[in-house]
Amino acid sequence: VVGYDENYRSKYHNGVGRVPVGIRSKRKRIVVTGGAGFVGSHLVDKLIARGDDVIVIDNFFTGRKENVVHLSGNPRFELIRHDVVEPILLEVDQIYHLACPASPVHYKYNPVKTIKTNVMGTLNMLGLAKRIGARFLLTSTSEVYGDPLEHPQKETYWGHVNPIGVRSCYDEGKRTAETLTMDYHRGAGVEVRIARIFNTYGPRMCLDDGRVVSNFVSQAIRKHPMTVYGDGKQTRSFQYVSDLVDGLVALMESEHIGPFNLGNPGEFTMLELAEVVKETIDPSATIEFKENTADDPHKRKPDISKAKDLLNWEPKISLREGLPLMVNDFRNRILNEDEGKGN
Ligand code: NAD
Ligand code: UDP
Ligand code: UDP
Repeated sequence: VVGYDENYRSKYHNGVGRVPVGIRSKRKRIVVTGGAGFVGSHLVDKLIARGDDVIVIDNFFTGRKENVVHLSGNPRFELIRHDVVEPILLEVDQIYHLACPASPVHYKYNPVKTIKTNVMGTLNMLGLAKRIGARFLLTSTSEVYGDPLEHPQKETYWGHVNPIGVRSCYDEGKRTAETLTMDYHRGAGVEVRIARIFNTYGPRMCLDDGRVVSNFVSQAIRKHPMTVYGDGKQTRSFQYVSDLVDGLVALMESEHIGPFNLGNPGEFTMLELAEVVKETIDPSATIEFKENTADDPHKRKPDISKAKDLLNWEPKISLREGLPLMVNDFRNRILNEDEGKGN
């Protein structure tokens, strides 16, 4: 029948009702789990700007309505308060699965919940993808490499992870989530994508989420000393959030499963990071040394040749360019917080 699409009808309506092709167009319906969080909310902005319909699923553990409030009223945006540990029925074309606390402070807060989110939450989203024939993207992490013995890390490296440590709810949880993803691909033919994300920063991070960039930036703005854990010689590679979001979309739209490292190869010690924050925010900022946490990886830097070659993706924004882009957002929120306290 002219004007109707059989596939669309059967996929979305189980044979009941008909949907004109004009409505379908190229516009996709996309679920973003964890879409009220830091990375998720920036991803949602990009998908909405592209013209897609977006459904956010979030339990607001670390996410905030403020991150997506500018989209309320947009008919292409929907927000569902839901915990991915519980099953859900939806009809969509793509699933970006981000739901999981990412800051060590948050994921260690309730480790059993963290691993349930990673295992049962990922299982449910894969079950959903299987039922409706949606493409599924997992946001895994550089933490799957643990305290790496290979440097920089390539996707072929199997990692050096403590299975019984305090970080294992997160790193082993994500490793299991990767396993589930590949098993649903091999066993049930689900179209899957795996991104291994390296440390990412930008506006909308929780002010006090314990991650190093948000901590240093908040501390420098509040004129508190920046807390350097251990000797500060451990390294990380910091990626600005818009680069990550571009990489996630490029991966989802590509023909490649991955896993792909998505990160900025620029590597900094924590002392060097403190210096950049000082230059950016307050030349009089000071540092204070604190005891380090258990199992802290000594160094981390992505080898991104695979993403460059196959996805034609690489980060564009250096740490010195990216940090100033989050400072206004942090200043405004810290100011509001202080006013809220009557200071
Ligand atoms: P975030 O904590 O800001 O966002 C996570 C979101 O998931 C929040 O909105 C939270 O409320 C939601 N959530 C948590 N548990 C949930 C559950 N059980 N059900 C529904 N929603 C739930 O973290 P982020 O930095 O935006 O990270 C997003 C994803 O990217 C995570 O999966 C994280 O593991 C991954 N990642 C992030 C980084 C980084 O540096 N930001 C690095 C590696 C991997
Ligand atoms: N699931 C879901 N939404 C769906 C389909 C499945 O939440 O639309 C959940 C389902 O409840 C189950 C998980 O995904 O817990 C795995 O589903 P699958 O069908 O693969 O496995 P089974 O239900 O056979 O164990
Ligand atoms: N760190 C620090 N000061 C802080 C918070 C973190 O020196 O206030 C260090 C931490 O020990 C680690 C690095 O910064 O070596 C990155 O920590 P983060 O929690 O941001 O992310 P991770 O890469 O460990 O998941």
